[in-house]
Amino acid sequence: MNKNISHITRKNNLDLKISFEFFPPKSDAAEERFWNSLHRLAPLNPSFVSVTYGAGGSTRERTLRMVSKITKDTGIFAAAHLTCVGASKVEVDEVVKGYALAGVNRIVALRGDSPDGIGEKFIPHPDGYKNAIELVTGIQKLGDFDISVAAYPEKHPQSPTWNDDIDNLKRKIDAGANRAITQMFFDNDDYWRFMEKVEKAGITTPIIPGIQPIHNFTQISNFAKRCGTSIPTWLEARFAGLEDDPETHSLVAAAVAAEQVTELVENGVRELHFYTMNRSNLVLALARLLGQR
Ligand code: FAD
Repeated sequence: MNKNISHITRKNNLDLKISFEFFPPKSDAAEERFWNSLHRLAPLNPSFVSVTYGAGGSTRERTLRMVSKITKDTGIFAAAHLTCVGASKVEVDEVVKGYALAGVNRIVALRGDSPDGIGEKFIPHPDGYKNAIELVTGIQKLGDFDISVAAYPEKHPQSPTWNDDIDNLKRKIDAGANRAITQMFFDNDDYWRFMEKVEKAGITTPIIPGIQPIHNFTQISNFAKRCGTSIPTWLEARFAGLEDDPETHSLVAAAVAAEQVTELVENGVRELHFYTMNRSNLVLALARLLGQR
């Protein structure tokens, strides 16, 4: 064992930045869980908390309500996600202006997916933004926004080649994005290989790894496959047969995520974005492991 390396994660990582992603709750019970989780994670001083935007703008009001309340009640920077799906430029611009009026000037700008399914061809609204590059450009015209975009360590499934994918990322950043947050990935080598390509392309903007703790392996692996994230065979083997053993499942999930984030931090990553699924336990444990209190 390399003692110098293991020492890194035992210090208080004061320079490590973490952020959390939530989704807008659909019911009163879900909203209670949302706020419980947020209040448990808030003392970790996240650099921001983001709230997703449902397919086709289905969560438009709820996303706005959640980000405004996070900003007002906790003082944590809140970032609202926004997609181009099923809306004209005028309609999308109205949402952006609504965010600004509510004091939210951080936006995660995304193309979104076809309402027919994640893998289906994306057909833009006839008067809409066609992709995230256009959306970032449009948001920039409306004011002074801090903009994040998406990045794909395993390549976006609709990118014909790696060159197209990296070029698309570069163009989103050149259009004004301040950072990119990655799609979930489970093999860190995918992230490192991706970062080599990013560096070769001259991209210097932060690319924050998106970490997905595995609360439910079956659910996450189904979703991952639809997003183009691969499930390594070693990962499948670790969860095999644990469907009816939630206690062991959550211990394995904690160990897997701990291994992933520890290796990233030990190799120089200074910023992590956690997909919380509106739950706090596992993320809280991981943050503590990384020296965050
Ligand atoms: P883009 O960057 O616009 O591009 C997507 C793909 O299309 C790329 O492969 C690109 O090469 C290709 N492409 C772009 N323009 C062209 C063109 N003119 N011709 C040919 N090909 C082109 N989805 C939601 O619905 N709500 C959310 O809140 C949400 N949050 C997310 C947060 C993160 C951190 C991530 C990683 C994803 C999120 N998504 C969300 C999913 C996202 O909407 C999808 O991954 C979507 O398929 C692509 O969005 P994008 O912004 O990366 O698209």
